[in-house]
Amino acid sequence: MRKKKSCSVIIARQEHGISRKLMSPNALRALYRLRDNGYVGYLVGGCVRDLLLGREPKDFDVVTNATPGELKRMFRNCRLVGRRFRLAHIHYQDEIIEVATFRSQASNEPEPEPKEPAGTDHRQRPPQMLKDDDGMILRDNVYGTPEEDALRRDFTVNALSYNIADFSIIDYTGGLADLNAGIIRTIGDPAVRFQEDPVRMLRAVRFAAQLAFTIEEHTWKALVAAADTIVRAAPSRLYDEMLKLLLSGEGARCYELLRQTGLFAALFPHVSNWLGAESEGFPHTRFGAMLSRVDSSLQQGNKVSPPLLLALLFGEYIDEKAAQFRRQGVPWQQSVNAAVAEFMGETCPIVMITNRVGLALRDIIGQQTRLKKIPGRRPESFIARPDFNDIIEYCRTTCGDKKDVVTQLGWWEAQARQQAPVPLPRELTKEAGAPQRKRKRRRRRNPSAKNRADRV
Ligand code: ATP
Ligand code: MG
Repeated sequence: MRKKKSCSVIIARQEHGISRKLMSPNALRALYRLRDNGYVGYLVGGCVRDLLLGREPKDFDVVTNATPGELKRMFRNCRLVGRRFRLAHIHYQDEIIEVATFRSQASNEPEPEPKEPAGTDHRQRPPQMLKDDDGMILRDNVYGTPEEDALRRDFTVNALSYNIADFSIIDYTGGLADLNAGIIRTIGDPAVRFQEDPVRMLRAVRFAAQLAFTIEEHTWKALVAAADTIVRAAPSRLYDEMLKLLLSGEGARCYELLRQTGLFAALFPHVSNWLGAESEGFPHTRFGAMLSRVDSSLQQGNKVSPPLLLALLFGEYIDEKAAQFRRQGVPWQQSVNAAVAEFMGETCPIVMITNRVGLALRDIIGQQTRLKKIPGRRPESFIARPDFNDIIEYCRTTCGDKKDVVTQLGWWEAQARQQAPVPLPRELTKEAGAPQRKRKRRRRRNPSAKNRADRV
């Protein structure tokens, strides 16, 4: 039976298909503890959406009217984290469950005292919300009611709650209808919501691609209109979010939507211009093709490291830059280094690829010539490189259809199988049975002793 209460719809336990068997036992433990201590406890966000769609949730988020201080007292295995907004991490053996106190929507308007759950600890109350001149949320730290907490979320399908008190689903935003219709729709005015947090545009694309949903018309129009403003988000956050899109298993679809909306051109302007032009009469089609390969590899359960992903996507662009350097007389290895440095210089002000990943990307591309030298000098140390598999995988994915490359890869893989250093069982190692080696004591510098020695 569906009950309408204020502006929420409650879907009773027998009316929805969510079973507790599909939930994380730890999340359930945390919810029962909250309930048994007299607090409200909801499962919220992506996990409710995924459970309703019959997908396995990535993580389980809990919200409650207990304050962080109260959570700390209630759970021995609790750590409070976050400077912007205090959250509780409940640590279980193999999982951390995030528990947040209901929050309200941000606004710069002078506000009445926020409605707070009974027992709010005012000493712990974080600073109020703050927006910049363009309406982007800088701080969003006000406790609120369950409804306010749902309304501040990004999309209707991400705002459903599962109430542990009676196992019902609470829908404040029409999320259930959108879920059934396969629609991604912002909560409230999409232009305002994208202005508050431009990263929501990337999230819209990711959810549309991952769930095979369509972006609702007003949301789509606002997204296309605001695509250029994506660059206002923090570069490190854009990097994390880009990885989530491209490693979602639906990267090719994400890429298609990024191009259609104008987000790709805003995030990677140089690469976007290059993709639109031809090289020696040929269009650049490798980017999309590589993403399809990455998707099928991920769907088969393989892992793709961020440096390998970036090498596969941007390798052709970097190779062309390197070729330009070589035409100016720069030697091969330096030409790759210079090309990667130029690529990083163009990209990082908008999408902050970490230095470590940049170096690893450079090595994957730079080491490709080593594969052609068989056996070359010290093949065993090449095989022992931690990025050996990425170097091989890059070669296989980009030119694995060439006969001589297949032969080369076959040779290296056979060597790797033979030469992989098999760790000796412990009982056969020299140390086994022998008395434990004493650690050499380093003499401590003791200034007073030095002074004494000086005096002698
Ligand atoms: P995933 O399957 O990727 O984990 P998710 O929807 O759970 O998807 P999270 O990043 O885990 O995404 O966020 C959890 C929830 O927090 C979301 O479902 C949404 O309700 C809310 N949320 C996350 N990011 C934002 C944002 N930028 N603006 C508003 N709400 C957000
Ligand atoms: Mg999640």
